[in-house]
Amino acid sequence: MEELVGLAKRRGFIFQSSDIYGGLQGMYDYGPLGVELKNNLKAAWWRAMVYNRDDVEGLDAAILTNPLTLRYSGHEATFTDPLVDCRACKSRWRADHLESNKCPNCGSDDLTEPRPFNLMFKTQVGPVDDGSSFAYLRPETAQAIFTNFKNVVDSTSPKLPFGIAQIGKAFRNEITPRNFIFRVREFEQMELEFFVKPGEDEQWHAKWVEERLNWWSEQGVDRNQLELYHVPADELAHYSKATVDVMYRFPHGLEELEGIANRTDFDLGSHTKNQAEYQIQAKVEPNPDSNAKLVIQDLASKQWQVPYVIEPSAGVDRGVLAIMNEAYRVEDLGDGKQRTVMAFKPHLAPIKVAVLPLKRNHEGIVTKAREIRQSLQKLGLGRILYEDTGNIGKGYRRHDEVGTPLCVTVDFQTIEQDDTVTVRNRDTMNQERIPVSELGHLVQAHLSAEHNG
Ligand code: ATP
Repeated sequence: MEELVGLAKRRGFIFQSSDIYGGLQGMYDYGPLGVELKNNLKAAWWRAMVYNRDDVEGLDAAILTNPLTLRYSGHEATFTDPLVDCRACKSRWRADHLESNKCPNCGSDDLTEPRPFNLMFKTQVGPVDDGSSFAYLRPETAQAIFTNFKNVVDSTSPKLPFGIAQIGKAFRNEITPRNFIFRVREFEQMELEFFVKPGEDEQWHAKWVEERLNWWSEQGVDRNQLELYHVPADELAHYSKATVDVMYRFPHGLEELEGIANRTDFDLGSHTKNQAEYQIQAKVEPNPDSNAKLVIQDLASKQWQVPYVIEPSAGVDRGVLAIMNEAYRVEDLGDGKQRTVMAFKPHLAPIKVAVLPLKRNHEGIVTKAREIRQSLQKLGLGRILYEDTGNIGKGYRRHDEVGTPLCVTVDFQTIEQDDTVTVRNRDTMNQERIPVSELGHLVQAHLSAEHNG
């Protein structure tokens, strides 16, 4: 983990937030390469969940949420972690994360009994600070999918089964944020709510677990580093009938990367006005505050139904950490030499191609290299970098370390003889001379999303 954190900072992937003022616990900022990696991961998810399917629509809803949404979702009452205080040193801990009944800070066993601590952040809305006009920062993106259910159904007329996908920030006032970007207070989620007919929920749950395992493999996560955890009944969230967690062997241990829950008709049911009419299975309280009927009509039987929902919910930041951990390797090159490589799948690599002029002061070479960079950029494959530090060997090493799949070197032969360039492959370290006219095609083939997720 230390090596990853060091590389992340040195190369501009991830920084401690508010660093110059001593940081803010549980917050991280993504730097020039981190933002590219994170965007590429989110784009890969969106391609798999929305573009490659005919049964999913997207959504991008507000972060600040009406407290009623989170009251009827059950979060106000139950979205808590057990908090204990150490009476000796005044530190606070999450009871279920303690390895013994001693304070990890000072070793005292004088701890309070655990008490529920609500993880939601609140903020004032509008200019009057009388405590009555507040909103929550959403603790999951899912609720806005449920509250927009009717809007999406009315505007797209889907038939069951169908899904609504969303990627966005979520906030949890974690008692002890830790392990770099693994457990933070501000993070991003990629969530799909997949609505199905009641009775078909269990088979769809199993199917989504399989789909999600395959997707993580396509992102370069070794299947052997993933394990499924069938959450026991006494650990299930209040809305869940069954949850399967996709666990990944993070540098600090085996922990949850994604949770795939069968949320039944709990959420749509809770936000629906007249629940008795729709034979909602979940035990939910009546909802006098809602005007909504979050139901769908079965075209064959003409019956109104509250669909069940299967939710694959993945953390973007945990995904970035897993992918960086999988990609990171130190290779022995013989003669006591080593290289560090981030072997990202090309579609995730922050920089797709680096174009390097052999001489940084040679006008002909520089102009040609810039032209090549522009023409590759126009292919729309992601970031193409022009870099004129003048030392090609060092350039290759640096780009190995940030995971750039291809480097293109422009030299005298390019401009004076045959319009060819050297293409250097990150993984094989092979160098190949090819005509500039074939470069676009080669780069496209190497990076094409079809071939790597
Ligand atoms: P944990 O048990 O690790 O706290 P959780 O079961 O509360 O996680 P879910 O509510 O299932 O998490 O959230 C779905 C996904 O959101 C998680 O699988 C994880 O990837 C991500 N996530 C949740 N909490 C955090 C956090 N504090 N920091 C980063 N990612 C998080």
